[in-house]
Amino acid sequence: MNSDDTSRSTGRLLLAAAPGGLCLVQDLLNSAGMPEASVPDLLDNESAAQTWLDASMQTWSEQTGRTARRIALSGDDLPALRDLRHDVRGWLTSEAEDPTPHPVDVDLSFRDGRFSFQPKGDGAAAVTSLVHLEALLASHTGTLARLKACMNPSCGAVFYDLSRNATRVWHDMKTCGNTLNLRASRARRRATAKGSPADSDR
Ligand SMILES: [Zn+2]
Repeated sequence: MNSDDTSRSTGRLLLAAAPGGLCLVQDLLNSAGMPEASVPDLLDNESAAQTWLDASMQTWSEQTGRTARRIALSGDDLPALRDLRHDVRGWLTSEAEDPTPHPVDVDLSFRDGRFSFQPKGDGAAAVTSLVHLEALLASHTGTLARLKACMNPSCGAVFYDLSRNATRVWHDMKTCGNTLNLRASRARRRATAKGSPADSDR
């Protein structure tokens, strides 16, 4: 894995980017750390967060064909970005509790037959505007529903489900699906041996 891969939150998990601008929403979610796999949180410090955002905006630009204006972050933005990530994860897990309205501040422009937008300002507010607008577009085209968090509770990697019926639940069957299936079958075997209900094996 080279340094480019580690700064790309989705890339370091060897997952393909979600289509179009939805990749930014996915990248935000995959910036989270996975302590059990020694994967660091990319929103843990200012330098890692800026490197993450620059790389994500580059992918966003490549996939949307739009010019990415550099959004500068400071250490003060980190708590808001982590809160945003937490809220956005709720959209995927249906645990979103609070239908809080989110103001977005963008410049809209019409060119070549379509509207495009650029967030105003810098910092967490600009990222928040961009993430919400990309999610809005993706929720109208049906792609947001295919963005999923791996069902392994110690993983949570966010992948784009290309399966025909959108039924995929693991980010990787080999690492997460098999591990959990194995644990469940071991727990069942122990329960059978003891003749008592299985303890939770998590
Ligand atoms: Zn997983």
